[in-house]
Amino acid sequence: MTAPDPDKDLDAWISEHLARPEVAARMHDELLATLHADRNQPPEPPPATTMPMPEFPRFGVARYRCPRGCGWSHDEPTDPGPSALIPPADPRELGAMLTLNAEARSLAYQARVEAAIARHYAETHPGASP
Ligand SMILES: [Zn+2]
Repeated sequence: MTAPDPDKDLDAWISEHLARPEVAARMHDELLATLHADRNQPPEPPPATTMPMPEFPRFGVARYRCPRGCGWSHDEPTDPGPSALIPPADPRELGAMLTLNAEARSLAYQARVEAAIARHYAETHPGASP
């Protein structure tokens, strides 16, 4: 008797349980149910952000200046380019999927800007908070 191989066991379990179409369809339905349940909740207030108001020095670029006025700035493309989208099995869910994708891209954008500001503060204004 050989010791169980966790990777092989996991692969076997996935192919046995998750790769079947009826399981994939059920997971899809559960995901949609979660999505719809979330939609029925009152919206949460937007989280606090360290992003200052941007300037738009030229087409396609948003510039975020240091809130302390030291002259530093971070440029971010306003269009990060196309994203890879896999169309949903049910075309009626395309709108929800596009909304989720847009929200994810917006959060990623905000995270990049906040990270740039945090790095700048760590290097130039240690001890201060944006
Ligand atoms: Zn600064």
